[in-house]
Amino acid sequence: MNEMWPLDGHRVEIPELVKDEETGKPFAHCRICELDLQSPPKPYMVEKVIRRNKELGLNEVLFGYAICLDCAGDMRSQISKESMLAIQQFISQRVDFQARIMEVFEQDFPDVDRHLSTCMITGNSIKEEGEYQIAALCEGDSLVLGLWPYVVSSTAIAELSGLLSNETLGHMDDFYGQNFGLPPEWADLFKEKPVFWL
Ligand SMILES: [Zn+2]
Repeated sequence: MNEMWPLDGHRVEIPELVKDEETGKPFAHCRICELDLQSPPKPYMVEKVIRRNKELGLNEVLFGYAICLDCAGDMRSQISKESMLAIQQFISQRVDFQARIMEVFEQDFPDVDRHLSTCMITGNSIKEEGEYQIAALCEGDSLVLGLWPYVVSSTAIAELSGLLSNETLGHMDDFYGQNFGLPPEWADLFKEKPVFWL
């Protein structure tokens, strides 16, 4: 049992939105260490940044990857104590975790689509948002339900990023620079930081 990423929730088939958009299948490898996530099945996080074209009603995946829990733990360990506390306070003030957990554990068919279409922080539909991020916990070809999956709108992420220390933001910039070699035109996008480690 992993304390940070508990794997004992209900499981469902991975929805399209959480699959690797290049293959149409569940992600096969950790983006950082290349660990094989599917044979045998291993737990991992998926993160995606999605831009919504409101006029056409289309979603464009700007960025999507899977990361094994060891690598996710390494990244999480670089977040400063102050930032972690600020993140936890921000989320606990804004999210009714008890209601989320009750829903996941007490309903036979938790409403995964709703979790993937509503900002966890603001409660707004992502149809109203220009950009949003999703985070999901998976194992092999299953989506594990619990705190994840969730969606956070760019509005809420901007608010949250304002609470993080410069040290933490610097580590995150290094992480994305080293591991993803992001092109400069994406720099603006990543001023709004990713959320999978929350
Ligand atoms: Zn890894």
